[in-house]
Formats: sequence, C-alpha cells, structure tokens
Amino acid sequence: MPGLEQYHAKRDFRVTTEPPGKKGRSKATAGIYVIQKHDATRLHYDLRLEHGGVLWSWAVARGPSLDPSEKRLAVHVEDHPVEYASFEGIIPKGEYGGGSVLLWDHGTWSDGGDVGSGLARGRLKFRLHGEKLRGAWMLVRMGRASDEEGKENWLLVKDKDEEADPAGKRDILKERPESVASGRSIEEIGSGAERRWKSNRPRRTPATSKRAPSAAPSASGMKGARRAAMPAQVRPELATLVSGVPEGDEWLHEVKYDGYRALCRIERGNARFFTREGHDWTAR
Ligand code: MN
Repeated sequence: MPGLEQYHAKRDFRVTTEPPGKKGRSKATAGIYVIQKHDATRLHYDLRLEHGGVLWSWAVARGPSLDPSEKRLAVHVEDHPVEYASFEGIIPKGEYGGGSVLLWDHGTWSDGGDVGSGLARGRLKFRLHGEKLRGAWMLVRMGRASDEEGKENWLLVKDKDEEADPAGKRDILKERPESVASGRSIEEIGSGAERRWKSNRPRRTPATSKRAPSAAPSASGMKGARRAAMPAQVRPELATLVSGVPEGDEWLHEVKYDGYRALCRIERGNARFFTREGHDWTAR
C-alpha cells in the first residue's frame, strides 16, 4: 500500500474542505469503519477500513447489500487519512470527487487474523460493527486485471449470518438513507452545506433551542463553533486520583460504584454502549 501520496496528489487543499491529514492511527483500539455516500459524477458508496495508519478505501458502485447472493463491485481506490472518517460536506465542483459526501455508516471493524495477507491474497473476511451494517462481510478481488490507473476491481459481499437477508427483502440503502452523523439526506447536504462549513457565525437554530431541555448546553451559540460530523469515536476524560475533594459550586460529587463505565451513544433512536476504549458492549 502506497500510503497517502495518491490522496494528496489528487486534491487541492486550498479549495476542498476535505482534511489533508497525515499517516497516523486513530485513538481507537479497534479499527475505524465508515461508509460515505458520495454524490459525485456517479453516485457511489465509499467503504473505508482503518489499517496501518490509513483508511483502506473501496468505491462501491451500487452500495452494500445485506443479501449474500448480491455481489457489489468495489473499486479499490487510494488510501485516505484517518481524519477522513468524520468528513461530511461538499467537495467543490471541479475538484477531485466534487459533490456531496454523507456519512452513511460508522463504527469499528475486526478481522479473523492476518488482515494484511488477506489484502495481498485478494480475499478479506471481516466483521463490521456499525450502526447500519453488522456481522460478517467479504471483499474478494476479481483477478489482477486493472485499468490504467492501477485500480483493482473487488466484490463486496455479505457473508451468511444472522445479520444477512438471504431473501433479499430489505434494501438497507433505501431503509436508512440518512447520515449517521447529522441525520441529513444527501440533498440537504448538497443544498447549503458548503456555507455552513465556511461560516464562523453561530447558526440560527430556533427550532432546536425551543425543543432542547433547559439544562442541555448548546454548542450552536458558541463563538467559532462549526457544524461538523459526530466523530466515529468519542473517548471520555479519565478520572485523576487526588488527595482532597475540590471545593466550590462548580463541582458535582457522586458516589463511585464498582463496575464498568460505559458511554451511551444515541442516534436516530438507537442506543449503543461503548467502553472507554471504544469497544461496542451493547450486546452485553
Ligand atoms: Mn468517492
């Protein structure tokens, strides 16, 4: 894998809002998984798996299917920086990949063993722990034939398990078209999202502030606050052992019970629980 040279060569970071990024692992212990719906020249879904300090990337022409008999063409494209995993917005017209990008799914992924050799052999079996896609998946390379840019054609296939839909009754792309970060549709991102990315002014959010409970803090009125996608992973601040209790009204004190601490993440009505290391413990 060539690293990020191709990624940087294709983009003008004075123009695009995509992150320049550099090689480096995310803070999560499990590798990041994302799919970005990309309304470019041709609509496609970009599957990205964090490995070795970059995001391995495939452009899936028709998007993923839960039906194991559906094999979806996945063109292996250049590695992306890890920071790209939270990107949602508009890539300006005329730039490489110009169009709207919607964060369609995110979470973590795991593999059954030596993932590096799997990529070299052209057969990658892995598990996705996302909000929309879960369970066993496969990427299979279709021979070594490649186009002039050296891009390889792979197939993305759902492996048979309890998360699969062998009857082909469900279309996850139509069922869950929205962004997991903002809840927006690709059309909503396309209309005016660019303005939000570039504005330093606080956004007017009368509807939100009316609905918000009085105790909930709102970032929208903060100076310099910028609308951005929810990061794929959030790590909590850790406690510091001190010898005395701090005094003053700005402190809250609570009893420390024995057990495990977890972060609860609620999106589109789905609650999931994560350990501080980013492991999904919802099932437990
Ligand atoms: Mn793309």
